[in-house]
Amino acid sequence: MTTVAVLIDHRDGAVTRPSLEALTLARSLGTPVAVWLGESPSADAAAQLGEYGATEVRVVDVADARLAASAAAALGAASDDADVIVVISTFVTKEIVTRLAMTTGAGVVVDAAGAEIVDGKVEALQTVFAATWNVRTRIDADKAIIGVRPNTTQATPADSAGAGTIIDVSVDLPETRERVVSVAPVEQSDGTPLAEAPVVVSGGRGTGGDYTLVSELADLLGGAVGASRDATDEGWISHEHMVGQTGTTVTPALYVACGISGAVHHRGGMQASGTIVAINMDPDAPIFEIADFGVVGSLFDVIPQTIERIKERRGA
Ligand SMILES: Cc1cc2nc3c(=O)[nH]c(=O)nc-3n(C[C@H](O)[C@H](O)[C@H](O)COP(=O)(O)OP(=O)(O)OC[C@H]3O[C@@H](n4cnc5c(N)ncnc54)[C@H](O)[C@@H]3O)c2cc1C
Repeated sequence: MTTVAVLIDHRDGAVTRPSLEALTLARSLGTPVAVWLGESPSADAAAQLGEYGATEVRVVDVADARLAASAAAALGAASDDADVIVVISTFVTKEIVTRLAMTTGAGVVVDAAGAEIVDGKVEALQTVFAATWNVRTRIDADKAIIGVRPNTTQATPADSAGAGTIIDVSVDLPETRERVVSVAPVEQSDGTPLAEAPVVVSGGRGTGGDYTLVSELADLLGGAVGASRDATDEGWISHEHMVGQTGTTVTPALYVACGISGAVHHRGGMQASGTIVAINMDPDAPIFEIADFGVVGSLFDVIPQTIERIKERRGA
């Protein structure tokens, strides 16, 4: 039996959607157990993890899970018996799993789009080099660690729920030579973080700085607003919205590029999206080379019609 430990991402006590995706992936690899760092989860949160297949919720009460050394030690203690560890791929978890791999000898693949067990070994799937190559990596080590990108697995509840039994794990945390002195959240727009959003509607220089229509379409589709670097450099929208090589890498189910030419630096951060829709006045814009659906026209004409049709269909 393959035991798969899943490091759960939680905010204000609520389980994030990418964690449910990670549990769904874990079920296809073996028997999932959830690892929860911090104060014990609520009964509802534990029940939800059970609903997505977690047989146990192993809780390590780490005072500060933001310190990678503490988090790596805690995750290691809670996943001692696991053959596979799955985390959501973020800057923070990449440091955590690297440290853990050093102490356990595990093989690590991050930014994966999925994983499978083949002949008893874990094989991770990635799209690399600005999503121009698909790579399959086999992990030969006894323990495999996979960092999986959000939106690459459809989160579905398990056919038969796991017990989600809460188990406290105690661990001697290492002396750390760093200490978090203060934490202040950066002002963020409301809604799902860009990297996790299932739908991203992005605007570029073609918006001329007016994000009203792009935001309205994003809201209607339950998505987040993205932007090209030129738009953020112009100061039309904050840098947290930038998609691409220097911005955020996104892999939503639907990516709508409005008034974006599709420069290689932008494509590198969105090319692995599920379905790509491009709206651009220039029929020769490079974005059309990777778009599943393209509309040649001004976004100021096309988006209002799109919004109208979506509302019509929903009202029908
Ligand atoms: C090292 C480096 C890193 C970079 N990293 C990034 C990155 O992370 N992300 C990123 O985005 N860029 C990045 N860039 C910049 C990138 O190369 C492009 O310059 C940028 O993506 C172009 O932005 P854009 O598509 O909005 O603008 P443009 O290339 O100017 O394209 C605007 C498009 O809008 C269309 N348009 C105009 N009016 C309308 C309208 N009314 N309706 C519909 N279409 C219209 C035009 O036909 C055109 O295709 C980077 C560059 C460098 C050198």
